[in-house]
Amino acid sequence: MKMKQYLDRLSEIYRAIDRAYSEALRHYSFSCDGCPDNCCVTKFHHYTLAEEFYLAEGFRKLNEAELRAIASRAENAAKMHNSSPEDMLAMCPLNENGLCVLYEFRPMICRIHGVPYELFRNFKMEYGDGCYRFIMEKENAPKDFRINRTPFYLEIAQIEREIREKLNFTGRYKKTTAEMVLSIINGERKTD
Ligand code: SF4
Repeated sequence: MKMKQYLDRLSEIYRAIDRAYSEALRHYSFSCDGCPDNCCVTKFHHYTLAEEFYLAEGFRKLNEAELRAIASRAENAAKMHNSSPEDMLAMCPLNENGLCVLYEFRPMICRIHGVPYELFRNFKMEYGDGCYRFIMEKENAPKDFRINRTPFYLEIAQIEREIREKLNFTGRYKKTTAEMVLSIINGERKTD
């Protein structure tokens, strides 16, 4: 399926998220550098096919050896997740020596996790106070800058609706990054 128009729109949203995130880091004089509580070991779920298609684009630039290494790490991470409590720590298969090998293609939660946010959904406002390190370091700082996640979620939901309609996909989507990676490697997310 031709995906370009959807992926271009998603790219714009990611850019806006990255700008908001940088602004939040500046506002709080906060940095993720050298963080021992790496968010790449946090078990996140992703909820859109759209983001899986976007991540799949990044796989085009990987060679065979890199793909094999990522596939092996993804299988191990998926096994750990499936055999352990919800908070089991398993490094994301895309993290290599502390760096994301597909950084420019990483999903939304990787971009936005860590700083205070607000989100309007289910008729009420939700608030998040940031990652563990942020909460510890900025315990006494006024939380006077919150990334508003609402427009980002709404725009991604709209793209997701359009993709699902086009694909006639009505199923539920909830995957860890390891599961996303395995679907992509198994050839389920061709973008053209
Ligand atoms: S996709 Fe990249 S940034 Fe996100 S958890 Fe994995 S390695 Fe970390």
